[in-house]
Amino acid sequence: MIVAVDGPTASGKGTIARAIAAHFGLPHLDTGLLYRAVGRQVALADGDPDSETDARAACDFDDALLADPELRTEVSGGLASRVSIHPAVRQALFERQRAFAGQPGGAVMDGRDIGTVIAPEADVKLFVIADLDERAKRRFAELRQSGRDVTLEAITADLAARDTRDANRKDAPLRAADDAITLDTSRLGLEEAVAAAIAIVSRTPDQNERPQR
Ligand code: C5P
Repeated sequence: MIVAVDGPTASGKGTIARAIAAHFGLPHLDTGLLYRAVGRQVALADGDPDSETDARAACDFDDALLADPELRTEVSGGLASRVSIHPAVRQALFERQRAFAGQPGGAVMDGRDIGTVIAPEADVKLFVIADLDERAKRRFAELRQSGRDVTLEAITADLAARDTRDANRKDAPLRAADDAITLDTSRLGLEEAVAAAIAIVSRTPDQNERPQR
């Protein structure tokens, strides 16, 4: 079974995808981390994230970079959002993501274009959303807890800028697939959101197990 979980930053899609993977015993890939690694690699190489050539060169990053805690910062998120605009970057990361989706038994993947581009054949497609203010509050609390000096205003502005960039890029913009189920987590606690997502996946028949017609 392939489960695609797409949605904007801080909508809860990562937590939901991890919980679905654990519940159904499936491997999970956070595809945002790949774009974050490209963004970080560009910075490490003193390149320009807005240059398609520099960003494409950074796609050959060493896999050890995926464990770098720096990838989780807002700076890396911003860089990821900039490098992810380039078609050459999306193309370079495409095969890697396709291979993950094609594993025997399936996978859970979260990102922006899993249901539309990477795995349009996914058995379940969730599009996780939440109001901007709510997402900013969550991200703010998370960052404050990890000891970072941030303001709610700066976080809100940053998320809004990333939303606009993700939704308006030409190549694979953030949008729900036509057959996606939208889950609004604005007024749900973490456990409620996870339970709602697991319930949706549970009631979707697995394509591999459907009777042949
Ligand atoms: O999900 P996360 O916030 O880690 O993603 C960082 C950035 O990577 C996003 O803002 C988006 O621009 C980009 N991204 C993407 N396609 C994906 C996953 C992430 O363009 N499948």
